[in-house]
Amino acid sequence: MKALTEQEIRRSFVNCTKGEAKRLSVPRDLAERPWGDLDFLGWRDPQAPDRAYLVTEIDGRPTALTLRSSGAASWQTRRSMCSMCMTTHTGGVSLMVAAKKGKAGQQGNTVGAYICSDLACSLYLRGKKDVGTGAQLHETLTLEEKIQRTATNLTAFIARVTS
Ligand SMILES: [Zn+2]
Repeated sequence: MKALTEQEIRRSFVNCTKGEAKRLSVPRDLAERPWGDLDFLGWRDPQAPDRAYLVTEIDGRPTALTLRSSGAASWQTRRSMCSMCMTTHTGGVSLMVAAKKGKAGQQGNTVGAYICSDLACSLYLRGKKDVGTGAQLHETLTLEEKIQRTATNLTAFIARVTS
């Protein structure tokens, strides 16, 4: 994806208030992020470990989500699979929950997905980050196809948040 500025990211949140989008924590090192290898940028809030954020491009427009992730639970010591990039980790996948956009979200409606805890799906796919003791499923898909599949999964997740 193309590099985004802090302002562009703050403007693109779809499932929180403008005030929250203004205050939430955006990485300071945006200029150094490997944008060319990212299908989306995801990060954890250093001040609030249960909060995570991601931003991607949908039809050429930046779209960002605020997420809440569950704390470490016993099941996380088992191997589990990220529903975005399909990487299998031991203890490295979290349930991330997004409030739905608008009124539905204010009434407490959420959408959840299991996602790599560090939100580094793009780097796992490209072999730029090691999955550790987890193992990649043996797949015959090309990298391009896996990237496409991840984009499709992420777009579908965002569509459920904004619908
Ligand atoms: Zn992933």
